[in-house]
Amino acid sequence: MRNLWNDAETPNMDELDLLVYQSRLIGADPSLVVWGGGNTSIKVDQQDFRGRDTRTMIIKGSGSDLKTIERKHFPGLRLEDILPLFERDSMSDEDMVDYLNKCMLDPSGPRPSIETLLHAFLPYKSVAHSHADSVVALTNNQDAGQVLRAVYGEEVAVVEYIRPGFILSKKVGEAVRGNPRIKGVVLVNHGLFTWGDSTKAAYDVHIDLVTLAEEYAQKQAVGKTVFGGLKQNPLDTERRHRVATAVAPTLRGMVSRRNRVVLRYDDSQDVLEFVGSQLGRELSGIGPATPDHLLQTKQKPLWVDVADAEDVPALLGSLRQGVERYAEEYSEWYRRHNTGGEPMLDPYPRVVLVPGVGMWTTGRDSRGALITGDIYHHTIGVIGSAQSVSEYTSLTARDAYEAEYWPLELYKLTLAPPERSLARRVALVTGGANGIGRAIALRLAAEGAHVVVTDVDQEGAQSVSEELNRAHGQGRAIACRMDVTSEGDVAGAFRQARLAYGGLDILVSNAGIAPPGAIDELSLADWQRALDINTTGHFLVAREAVRTMREQSLGGSLVFIGTKNVTSPGRDFGAYSASKAAEVQLARVLAIENGEYGIRCNVVNPDAIFQGSNLWSKEVREQRAQAHGISVDDLEDFYRGRNLLKERISADDVAETVLFLAGDRSAKTTGAMIPVDGGLRDAFPR
Ligand code: ZN
Repeated sequence: MRNLWNDAETPNMDELDLLVYQSRLIGADPSLVVWGGGNTSIKVDQQDFRGRDTRTMIIKGSGSDLKTIERKHFPGLRLEDILPLFERDSMSDEDMVDYLNKCMLDPSGPRPSIETLLHAFLPYKSVAHSHADSVVALTNNQDAGQVLRAVYGEEVAVVEYIRPGFILSKKVGEAVRGNPRIKGVVLVNHGLFTWGDSTKAAYDVHIDLVTLAEEYAQKQAVGKTVFGGLKQNPLDTERRHRVATAVAPTLRGMVSRRNRVVLRYDDSQDVLEFVGSQLGRELSGIGPATPDHLLQTKQKPLWVDVADAEDVPALLGSLRQGVERYAEEYSEWYRRHNTGGEPMLDPYPRVVLVPGVGMWTTGRDSRGALITGDIYHHTIGVIGSAQSVSEYTSLTARDAYEAEYWPLELYKLTLAPPERSLARRVALVTGGANGIGRAIALRLAAEGAHVVVTDVDQEGAQSVSEELNRAHGQGRAIACRMDVTSEGDVAGAFRQARLAYGGLDILVSNAGIAPPGAIDELSLADWQRALDINTTGHFLVAREAVRTMREQSLGGSLVFIGTKNVTSPGRDFGAYSASKAAEVQLARVLAIENGEYGIRCNVVNPDAIFQGSNLWSKEVREQRAQAHGISVDDLEDFYRGRNLLKERISADDVAETVLFLAGDRSAKTTGAMIPVDGGLRDAFPR
């Protein structure tokens, strides 16, 4: 492992800046820590709120991530108050957390890391802690004692697995104090601690010890086949994607029975190699690399064997059985170890492995599924290294239970902000590049939905999806070029949604055109185009949507954007009015045919919306102005003036109604039309 410390980058840095610099170097390497793992500290003299010199430990706050950490993420604690704890024999987690809160220099700072006591009990200025894959591999094997001695001799102390807390901190302190020859501590099934007189010294030793572990594993791996060699060849890319898109919604439905999740499909090389190997199944069942990983991946993944990976019906059968069996075994494991009456967490797998096809991970959003996936890549890496030095081992079932049901972790879950109304959902919006479609995509995403933004204008769709990802985090939106009149395009967009998120919960069928013209003058081409986009387009996307939703068995909501013209047609707009009326009839039939599956279908009927709309081309404006006997400049005022509320209707107004129909607040409404037109007597239903 390369030492990345560069003195040229650290001139004039104060102690805390140096700690931030060191932390980010560690955080930047995913083979050291992933997603919030690891922590760092320094002990310095600081002034308290009254200006008194105070011996202070500055340590990473709980919940921050080393790779992006900033000064404000490091709370300071009074060492004078912490150090007497070393004389105690025991302390509960709750008492420890409570006590440490009282030691904070600034009580409003972030909560200090759960490993604070361990850092405090090490009598050195700077302490660095990682969950280095290569070090964990040295501890997670049958011959760990021997292997660790061979790599580190007497220079590193080894502490057997105990969950972080007072006892572990005290044991590490006892192993290190009065033993100046020791350079670091390896915690079994957990990671590495190093220290020094400066942040650079602690980092240097850290990299040295990790490098020794890496070199040892590499030497041992020479001439060995990883995971016992190949058992099943992966399908080629096109074939495995076909299989993955075919089974994803069923799988998503099955693992969403307790809590709805989104899926993330992963067919990277290391995953394919692992799932196609002789020993993959057996090794994956042994357990996680560290308890930290287990919180994301659960103790074990679901492994689904199938003789022919391309046989979709057989694979679906195996997935169904596999998920059932997994949930039963999880419940059994929970019952065996539960003592405190803590309620059972979601019993469904977070990682699903299928030979020949790849891996799915689950999460409450796509970021969560990505984190779980990232972590499982590291699990595979650790298993590989451990296998090359000996035979992979993991936590006991009891330790795994205690890690997952650790009250401090359960407490963390309760601190999460309440979920938005469309959290965990996936929506597809047609015509999403601008106007009403864009406003809807923005509104649904703001409520927590993942959005597949589709449009014939690929660049426009891409720009909206980038806007959503910037606002809500990477993975919240994807863009697809889709012409709603093309069966192939529509199928392609749904394949992308199935691959990216595992399925679909909400369809907003919005794309439309408005060719003007009196019927006696209308060309067949214009008439046909209106029908193609305004009727057939809705048919094609809705057909794919209900197929996907039925496979998931999670219900769903279809929202069609109609028009005020459906109930109140105007002259010279025949192709538009007739094709939109057919769209509404289609929506009603969809409601009738899909009620038994919990799939609802409703229509929103807006009146003229000019904001950002492609519908209102120069030609349409001129033609409508003429039809109403007014000038083009007066058009917007004309539409406003004709409604009862005298309001201009905006795309955001329509998006608000779509949001209502998309989510559970309208759970008992299907086959309905809601006008968003400021109130038009002519359009009242008769
Ligand atoms: Zn740790």
